[in-house]
Amino acid sequence: MKVPVSTPDITKADIKNVTACMKAGWVSGISRWVEDFESNFAKFIGTEYAVATGSGTTALHLACATLDIRPGDEVIMPTFTMIASANAVRYLGAKPVFVDSDPQTWCMDVNQIQDKITKKTVAIMPVHIYGHPCDMKPLIEMSEDASLWVIEDAAESHGADIEGMGRTGSIGDIGAFSLYANKIITTGEGGILTMHHKKDYERAKWLRAHAFGRHGRHYWHEEVGYGYRMSGLQAALGLGQLERIDYYIEKRRLAANVYMMELLDLMKKNLISFPAELEGFKNVYWMFSILIKDNIHIDRDDVMDHLKKKGIETRTFFYPLHIMLPYKTSEEFPVAEDIANRGMNLPSGNQLTIPQIKYVCKCIKELF
Ligand SMILES: *Cc1c(COP(=O)(O)O)cnc(C)c1O
Repeated sequence: MKVPVSTPDITKADIKNVTACMKAGWVSGISRWVEDFESNFAKFIGTEYAVATGSGTTALHLACATLDIRPGDEVIMPTFTMIASANAVRYLGAKPVFVDSDPQTWCMDVNQIQDKITKKTVAIMPVHIYGHPCDMKPLIEMSEDASLWVIEDAAESHGADIEGMGRTGSIGDIGAFSLYANKIITTGEGGILTMHHKKDYERAKWLRAHAFGRHGRHYWHEEVGYGYRMSGLQAALGLGQLERIDYYIEKRRLAANVYMMELLDLMKKNLISFPAELEGFKNVYWMFSILIKDNIHIDRDDVMDHLKKKGIETRTFFYPLHIMLPYKTSEEFPVAEDIANRGMNLPSGNQLTIPQIKYVCKCIKELF
C-alpha cells in the first residue's frame, strides 16, 4: 500500500467551478470569484473582511505591510514554525524575536513573551501549529497592555477555535491563512487575510495590487505596493473547497481519533506521545503528529525509515528557526529543539482513508 503524506481532494464540482470561471473570462484578480471567495471565507472565520493573495507567505508579508511594520521593528514569534512566518517580517527589514515552545501544544509558550518585549517591539505573531490554537487569552492581554499588533499565522488552523474567543484568524488584528495544496482547503497556491477593521481591509487591498492611485490617477503611486493578487481561477477552486470545509475538519478529527486509538498501546507504554487538545480548544489536526520518546532504542529517524520502506510518506517536524543560517542565534530554546528532534508528521491529507491509517499504525507497531 502507498500512503502519501497529503493529497488534496479536488472534486468534479471544483472542476466545474474553475471551468465556469475560465468560460466567463474573469481569470485575473479582478473577478467576482475572488470577491465571493473572500466574503464566504470571512463569514466562515467570523471577521467582517478578507483579502485573498497568491500564497500564505504573501498573505503574511501583506499583513505586516498593512500594519506598517518597518526596518528595525521587532516582531515576537515562536522559533518552532515554518520559515515563512519569519521571512514575512524580514522582507520588511524588521526582526523576528523568538520564543520557545509549550511542551504540550507545541505552540509559542506565551509565558515567555513578556521578557521579549522591548521598545522596538511592534507586534506578536502567534502560530497555531499543526492546527492547535496558541493560548490567545493571555497573549491578547499582553498585546493590549503593551499596545502591540497581533498577527495570527493561521496557515495550519482553518476552523480551529478557542471557547469564548472564536476561530483562529479572528482573534488578533489580522489573520493570515495558507491555501497551499496540502493545507486544510486549497486553491493550489494561495493565501488569505482576515480582519475586522475596514481601515486594515482597505489598506491591505490597496497594497495587494501595486497601491494604484486613488483619486482618478490610476498610475500615480504613493507607496511601494505588491503584486500579490489571487486569480479568479484560484478563487473558483477555493469556493467549492470552502463549501466542504466542515467535512474536511471532521474528517481530520476522525483520522486523529483513529490514529490515537490504534497507537494507544504505544502511548500507554510511554514510547510515543500524541498531539494535545487542551480543554476549551479545538484542534483541527492539520498534520497528525507524534513524538517518539527518547528513553528507547528507536528514534524518530528509524520510524521514518521503516515507514518509507513500507510505502508510507512522512515528514520531520520543522527545524526551529534559530538554528538555521538566516536566523541563527546563540540563544537556546530547549523545548523547541527537543520536539523538533523527536517529532514527525504522519499521513494526514483530505483523501486519507481509515484502512490507510490502520496500515500506517500496524507498520509503526511492528517496528516497536
Ligand atoms: C504553509 C505555511 C506558511 C506558508 O504558506 P504558503 O502558502 O506555502 O506560502 C506559513 N506559515 C505556516 C505556519 C505554514 O504552515
